[in-house]
Amino acid sequence: MCCAACVFIGPTHIILALFRVLLLHDFGNSSSWQQILSPRLDENKIKADCEQLYVVLKNCDAPDQGARDGESIKTLYRLVFLLSYRHGSKLMAITTTTASYLCHHPMLPVILVEILRDSKNIKVCAYVLDILSKLVLKNAIVGETERKAIRRVFHEPHHFRTLLQALRNMDTRYQVLVDVTDSTDEETTQAHDMQVRFLKIINCLYSRKGQSQISLITEFNVEFIGRHFVKHAMSNMEISRCMLPLIKTFCRNKKNCELICDQAFVLAFVTLVPAVKRYPAGISILRFLSRSPEAMAELCQSEAVHHFVVQTAIHHAEKSTHRKYLMSTMYRLAKSSYGMQLLKNTSLWLSLLEFFMKSDRLEELRQRMSFTRAYTILHRGVTNKFVMATPLLIDFDLPGDIQAYICDRANHHSSDDSDNDEEEEEDELRNARSRTVSAENEDDDNDDSDNDNDEEGEEDERMETKEEDDKDNEMQTENHHDVNDEKNFQQFFAEFNDFHENNQQGCELFKSKIHRHALIDRLALPDLLPHLENDNDGYLTADINHYSTDQLYSKIVSMKNNLATFQPVVIYDLDELITQNQHQDVNIPNIEDIHMNYLNAECDMMSTEVLHFESRFECGNLRKVEQIGEYEYNLFISPDANMACGLQWFYFQVSGMRALATYAFNIVNLQKCNSQFSYGLQPVMFSVLSYALNSRGWRKCGSELMYYGNEYICSESNKQYRTLRFCITFEYNGDVCYFAYHYPYTYTRLMHVALASFTLPNDNVYVRVEELTKSVGGFNTVPLITITARNTEKTQFEERKLVFLTSRVHPGESNASWIIEGAMRFLLTDEETAQCARENYIFKIIPILNPEGVIYGNTRCGLTGNDLNRCWKKPHPRLHPEIYNAKRLVQYAKEYLQNEIFAFVDIHGHSRKKYFFLYGCNARQSWDESDAILSDTLDAFNALPKAMSAVNPNMKLSYCRNTVERKRETTCRVVMWREFAIHRSHTLECSFCSGENKKKITTGMLREIGEGLIRALANLTTSSE
Ligand SMILES: [Zn+2]
Repeated sequence: MCCAACVFIGPTHIILALFRVLLLHDFGNSSSWQQILSPRLDENKIKADCEQLYVVLKNCDAPDQGARDGESIKTLYRLVFLLSYRHGSKLMAITTTTASYLCHHPMLPVILVEILRDSKNIKVCAYVLDILSKLVLKNAIVGETERKAIRRVFHEPHHFRTLLQALRNMDTRYQVLVDVTDSTDEETTQAHDMQVRFLKIINCLYSRKGQSQISLITEFNVEFIGRHFVKHAMSNMEISRCMLPLIKTFCRNKKNCELICDQAFVLAFVTLVPAVKRYPAGISILRFLSRSPEAMAELCQSEAVHHFVVQTAIHHAEKSTHRKYLMSTMYRLAKSSYGMQLLKNTSLWLSLLEFFMKSDRLEELRQRMSFTRAYTILHRGVTNKFVMATPLLIDFDLPGDIQAYICDRANHHSSDDSDNDEEEEEDELRNARSRTVSAENEDDDNDDSDNDNDEEGEEDERMETKEEDDKDNEMQTENHHDVNDEKNFQQFFAEFNDFHENNQQGCELFKSKIHRHALIDRLALPDLLPHLENDNDGYLTADINHYSTDQLYSKIVSMKNNLATFQPVVIYDLDELITQNQHQDVNIPNIEDIHMNYLNAECDMMSTEVLHFESRFECGNLRKVEQIGEYEYNLFISPDANMACGLQWFYFQVSGMRALATYAFNIVNLQKCNSQFSYGLQPVMFSVLSYALNSRGWRKCGSELMYYGNEYICSESNKQYRTLRFCITFEYNGDVCYFAYHYPYTYTRLMHVALASFTLPNDNVYVRVEELTKSVGGFNTVPLITITARNTEKTQFEERKLVFLTSRVHPGESNASWIIEGAMRFLLTDEETAQCARENYIFKIIPILNPEGVIYGNTRCGLTGNDLNRCWKKPHPRLHPEIYNAKRLVQYAKEYLQNEIFAFVDIHGHSRKKYFFLYGCNARQSWDESDAILSDTLDAFNALPKAMSAVNPNMKLSYCRNTVERKRETTCRVVMWREFAIHRSHTLECSFCSGENKKKITTGMLREIGEGLIRALANLTTSSE
């Protein structure tokens, strides 16, 4: 017969195809098998054949031995034998041998699956399932090595799809079977058992994590899984139970979560999991689901989910990982307004409290994190207070068109424009990373437990680029070079024309008035006194985050029950002061008086029942203070001027304290979900008496630090505000103390102190200070500093490369100013390296790109409410003159000078990482393929990070990134690189928290980073020459 002929001549794939055909069509008809086996159709003879084959199989050596065709024939015989000889004592033994043989033919398991998919014969399916489970599931027949080989075969998404198709087809077929009235119970049971077995096989193949192919599965299949689960959850729980691991696997992908999670699914899920007691799988699935906003929406609709979570947490979360997962799920659920409503239910709230208290004690190690989360969740269930983030309108002496622009923006942009959900982002990144790792234990939810290892992008360039409104576009003009401006920019390169003139006196020019709003027309004391360097502020310790959880729990319980014993009193209200026109009446004492009072022992009289607060000075931004306990205060800070966002930077003055009493300060309207304040970061404090008596300047301070979501909800965005809580024990009565997010660095300090203090170490140094432009509205000067060496025999200006340094585009990142000051100071020293840097480069430095932002104590924006680091692509000459002119400066250099632009470094502060590091641009890591033309074979983007790590131990090379992401298109780094082909275009990011060996960041360390930047640049010239 023809088939048999094929068998004997054909190559392996024909044989396999034949095998499939035989199975599909002729299984029930044993005669064709018998024909192959024995032409004489003699039953006894067949048995004899089988016996003989068994012997052959048993003695069969490694399968790849022997000629190919001979081997194929053997294969066929063995399979045929296996499949036809169903009832025999030797079945098991034969199956064993055959199965191990099959393992070495990777396509055979796949063919089995195809048979499952296509065959309409339930008996065939049952038999194939039997073989497949022997191949895949753990048993004595196939060894682990073989099983691994088979699983590898199935790693192709294509095969997974086939498996799912088979499952789908089986389901349909059995449905028909079950529906037929005369089908027996036995048949129904058999059909269900087969599905269960099949699901077990699938689970075994796909339950491993890190299967990136899961994301490639068609929507149709995902939806089928969801429906299948729901269908059987009510009728046959065993099937649905077996589907849990499969669903867990699917849900690692956010998109799948959205496809699976609907109301029916949620209901089936919360019913099934407790019924079959599969809590661990349930917890994991729920956690995955809660990562998808769409799935979250479904979950939040169901009260049952919340009860399920709470009940599971209380009674079934034995493992600490489960508690951790439940905690993150709860945390996300509680963020929704529906979740908030449910938490108002007192018994639910109390059960949660009980669970948190229990698990806090169980998990000493993770206590800090779980506690701050618990506290955040519980706050949702107390009486929430809705507050508006009211913009503080500043400087309406602005020209009409700019005022109109600001008003329009304030009306149309919601308050939380800048607050995208960091945690979701982190989850997503971890997902992406974990997909590439296949270790089972990698499944670890540390979305905010260890910031050192997260793979965040530049958090300061984190805001999504938003398409500007049409109105904005009207204000935008084309940024093309205007020939008439050419001469204007030439003046900033005067060193090329009049190198004998040294314009250093220029900095004296800036001692004239600095334009501030009447509200803040003065300086705080620390900014009037000479800065005392703090070179050593110690190391991070766990102590500062240590607090009494019992105390805090009892506090929140009394909050829940409205049992507050102290009636809050507003003791400082800027808006009130403005309306009463008392804003000129500012209480900033002078240091001599404070000192005198101390020496005359009159300090004790200065202590009062209530602290006095003040912040109407440069960089200050306190809006309102409430006393909420004898020694406890709630502080509200102002959002960025003319905006309702920002809310990170703070700077205020306190007086009237009692020595040795411990005060608690809660800054209650912070916006970021997470902060280094939970991991060792402390605010900075300046004590006037400590300065006068012990020569101590700014230092890190505060104990019992906590950062958590509080009872205040932003009424526009419905998002929970965060509290930074810290405790202080003051040293002296009658002191005046200042607190800030980080070491303040005012615009005045730059203009009056830093620039004026420049001294030239020798005659060879060339320095020029000039006004690059007026800031927005024409208010203040944006200074440009040129530093290089005078023309020498050795090098001429024309041969030197240009280096641009900028900072404080984000005003809340005061560390950037200390760094750039460090760089400038080092450049003006006698040191050989500084000399080398001057002789090889012309430095163009813009130390404060956003003067008004700095003056008004903003966190991110300028007066017009724009994040200026999002304006580099198309800066507007009137709305963003600082950026517009900085960009034109570079453009001029690029187009009209022969000098190479060696580097552009824009300096920033990073609130969620430690150390300092650089971001650069690598064309090969760009989202935009057309960037390929910028490709640079020398990988110049690596040079500066490496050089910096060689000179400063606080540099963290592993944090450096060179990706060019779409959402960073309009940042300085990307624009400079793409438009002017500056290969070393970097963002330097520096932590507010700590550097190497957990050493707390000090101003001395920050200056050393600036110095290191110059040293690194100098080293790059010598190494390349
Ligand atoms: Zn920044």
